[in-house]
Amino acid sequence: MPTANRNANSEEKPNYVGRFAPSPSGPLHFGSLVAALASFLDARSQNGIWRVRMEDIDPPREQPGAARQILKSLEAYGLHWDDQVLYQSRRHETYRHIISDLKTRGLVYPCTCTRKDLRGQGGVYPGTCRDKTDNTKSPYALRVRCPEKVIEFQDLIQGPIKYALPDLGDFIIQRKDGLFAYQLAVCADDADQGITHIVRGHDLLNATPWQIYLLSLLNTATPAYAHIPVITLANGDKLSKQNHAPEIPLHQPEQQLINALQALGQSPDAELHGSSVSEILQWGIAHWQIEKVAKQPFVPLAALS
Ligand code: GLU
Ligand code: ZN
Repeated sequence: MPTANRNANSEEKPNYVGRFAPSPSGPLHFGSLVAALASFLDARSQNGIWRVRMEDIDPPREQPGAARQILKSLEAYGLHWDDQVLYQSRRHETYRHIISDLKTRGLVYPCTCTRKDLRGQGGVYPGTCRDKTDNTKSPYALRVRCPEKVIEFQDLIQGPIKYALPDLGDFIIQRKDGLFAYQLAVCADDADQGITHIVRGHDLLNATPWQIYLLSLLNTATPAYAHIPVITLANGDKLSKQNHAPEIPLHQPEQQLINALQALGQSPDAELHGSSVSEILQWGIAHWQIEKVAKQPFVPLAALS
């Protein structure tokens, strides 16, 4: 059950609003439990608000029932969120509105490149369609035109981060198939939900400069960021539905929580064995030290047992 806001107050802006933003492409696995727990502990240890947002903007990649299953798992693990869950599938009107505004301001352009056209570019868009006029005859995606700008921020785990936007390339906010892209939805929602702290997986570190730039276009201040290691299989692959990462068990969540604390470098006391879910979380909140989280991009699951 959602709990009441802790530091929400009608007069003042809360000084900490965090979130966990799963994509319902499968049930909650151990890697996503670690991400949920990290953002929860960081928020609660600062008496902050913690929200859950369901990032269901990509129906072809979603699994029926996964959103419900994820929420059930969070509850079984004692990770109770504040307010209502926000569903991106109900936010299309807002996304359309933002896109039309960015278009009016000349900040986006249509791109008709195919996957084949972009092969061999190392994932960085070379700007092929930037200056084309009348490029809307065949199906097109919409890209944000990135300026010659260096984005710097202080990641609470990774330390100082600096990227030149041109090295990342112009990014897509609406796909050729018409679906809204993750970069757009995540920024629109972080802005509208008043998110001040983003704790999430290291795989999103290099999307952060784009998001800081897009947030600035939405008149939103840069939140604090902390990127935690991604849990992988022994071969370095991220746990995911594609590689059949098992759903975390709903019975006996205690051991999984202790393992997740360990994955976050929090060295749980031996006395925690035999404790209840809420005792383990209380311990986690009281002892949370973000500086103990490893800086590395990956932690193999095998290293935790
Ligand atoms: N929905 C994204 C994912 O599951 C996370 C988005 C975010 O935390 O910014 O990978
Ligand atoms: Zn193009």
